[in-house]
Amino acid sequence: MSATGHCRLCGTEVPDERHGYCEGPLCGADLAGQRVGDPGVAVQVGFERARVAARPGEVVEARLLVRNRGRRAERFRIRVFDTERVAVTEPEPGAPIGPGAEVVWTVRYRVPRDPGPLAAGPAAAGPGGAADAASGLYYAAVRAEAVRDARVGAAAVLDVRIRGETDGAGRIRAIRAPIPRWPATCPE
Ligand SMILES: [Zn+2]
Repeated sequence: MSATGHCRLCGTEVPDERHGYCEGPLCGADLAGQRVGDPGVAVQVGFERARVAARPGEVVEARLLVRNRGRRAERFRIRVFDTERVAVTEPEPGAPIGPGAEVVWTVRYRVPRDPGPLAAGPAAAGPGGAADAASGLYYAAVRAEAVRDARVGAAAVLDVRIRGETDGAGRIRAIRAPIPRWPATCPE
């Protein structure tokens, strides 16, 4: 059965709300988590700019907007795919966010010094903010989830494009690559 629906937080149409995350701008709600989790808890996250360019070895910084869409003040914790390269700074670590309020967390991603197919290696192909060796694209993927009910969360992916990787005409290559996703089911 195909259950086409809409995200309960932003209204974006989703092909199957049983799986995955809302792709609405600055939403990223865990659609399955919204369905099975505490109905009074809701969160949206999104990068202010979803794509950045960086040089090898550089540390890029991005603003992650975290909005409490639940009915009461809530604490959220952040999880990252790739703990070696991704770090998140909260303005007030562990502090609750009021209902309807939005805070900005800072996400830093350390670009590999030697990006490329050989540097990435086969082990880097899985989820984890890892390299897509064929495209030269890197990702910083983060998920915020409610401390009260970890099933309720939202995820966002920052595309990191390596400067200097160009096609024959000298343009930055724009290859579409699969974006890593958090598993549809939340780990217990
Ligand atoms: Zn949404």
